[in-house]
Amino acid sequence: MLQSYCGQNCEQCPVYNLKYIDKPKTGGLLAKNWSAVFKTKLTRKEFYCEGCKSQNRFVFCRDCEIELCCIDKGVKNCASCAKQKDCPTYISFWEWFNNNKQNLMWDKVQKPS
Ligand code: SF4
Ligand code: SF4
Repeated sequence: MLQSYCGQNCEQCPVYNLKYIDKPKTGGLLAKNWSAVFKTKLTRKEFYCEGCKSQNRFVFCRDCEIELCCIDKGVKNCASCAKQKDCPTYISFWEWFNNNKQNLMWDKVQKPS
């Protein structure tokens, strides 16, 4: 498991898995859907990521609020933070993610076994 700061498993993320998928159509659909979720214009070329704790991250996963907070507190992720249960940043991120999970095509683009 490639764990992020927020608790997400990056190995289940479609952006992470797109590099293993040789289907331009899937990349185009992902760019369209993620552009709608993030209300911006993302191109297929921007969809490369080696995970939350790597140097090569998807644009919206670079220096995110949760990452900066974990680094500031010296914890490896939110699960190791004493404030997690009542943290508004943590709670609102997961609410947002669960509301958008389907549109982000989460679990839909997986590395072929
Ligand atoms: S875009 Fe990258 S850092 Fe963000 S959740 Fe997906 S794999 Fe992790
Ligand atoms: S305060 Fe919140 S965002 Fe920061 S590390 Fe703790 S749980 Fe995560």
